[in-house]
Amino acid sequence: MKLVRYGARGAEKPGLIDSDGRIRDLSAHVADIAGDVLANLEQLQAIDPASLPLVEGNPRYGACVGQIGKFICIGLNYSDHAAESGMAVPPEPVIFAKYTSAVCGPHDDIIIPRGSEKTDWEVELAFVIGKPGKYIVEADAMNHVAGFCVCNDVSERAYQTERSGQWSKGKSSDNFGPIGPWLVTRDEVANPNDLHMWLKVNGAQMQNGSTNTMVYQIPFLVSYLSQFFTLHPGDVISTGTPPGVGLGMKPPQYLKAGDVVELGIEGLGEQRQICVNDL
Ligand code: ZN
Repeated sequence: MKLVRYGARGAEKPGLIDSDGRIRDLSAHVADIAGDVLANLEQLQAIDPASLPLVEGNPRYGACVGQIGKFICIGLNYSDHAAESGMAVPPEPVIFAKYTSAVCGPHDDIIIPRGSEKTDWEVELAFVIGKPGKYIVEADAMNHVAGFCVCNDVSERAYQTERSGQWSKGKSSDNFGPIGPWLVTRDEVANPNDLHMWLKVNGAQMQNGSTNTMVYQIPFLVSYLSQFFTLHPGDVISTGTPPGVGLGMKPPQYLKAGDVVELGIEGLGEQRQICVNDL
C-alpha cells in the first residue's frame, strides 16, 4: 500500500493511492496515518481500495505520517558522503534529532531561515516504525518497520557545525523535514538496501546514488536505536545521504530563494520544493 495524508496543513485526512494512482479517502476507517494504525496495517490491507471514496482534484500532500513522536536522523551513513564532508565514517552510527516542528509535506516550500547562507539538501531513505519495541534483535528488526518514504534532510550547515553544540540547530528549521509523498508499506519494497536515489537543483543533477552504499543498514539501525530508547509507532528514522550535497561542492553551493529542488527514490515517489526566504 501507498498511504498518504492529504489536504490543508494541520487538517490532513488519511488516504491511499489506488492502482490508477488516484487518492482514495480512508477517513471512514482510520482517523490518521499515525500511531497504532501503523502497528496494525492489516486492517487497512483488508480493505478493497475500489470501495473507498475517490478524492477529487489535486489536493496538497501532507507529511505521509502524522503525530510523529521522534524524528531521528543518521549522520555520515554513506562512506562517500562522509569523505566529501571531510569526516570519517564513525565507529558507531551518529544520530541526531530533527525536531518534529520541521515536518512538512513533500511539495511544501523550503523556508530559508532568516540570515541563512548555507541551506543545503540531502535526499534520504526514511523508514517508519510500526510495531513498538525495545532491545530489538537484528533478526526481528524488520518486523518493527511499517514502511518507507522519501525524506529531504534539509540542513543549514553554519547552524549545524559553526554555531556550537550538536547538529539539531541546523536540521530543525521550519519545513526542513519534508517526508512523502507516500508511506510505502514494507511488503511493497523488496530490498530497501538497493534503491536508486537522486536529487536535482534547478534541473541539474546533484545526487545520484543508491541505498546499497549505506554503511549501517536498516535492521542494524532498528536494533541499535532500540538499545537506547523504545521505538514507538510513527517514529521516523532518516538513514543518511549519498554524496552530492552543496557542502561537498568546490566551491560549496547553497540554496537561494527561487531555487527548485526535486528528489526521489525508486518506488517511493518524488518530492518537489521551491525555496523561499523566511520574511
Ligand atoms: Zn542527513
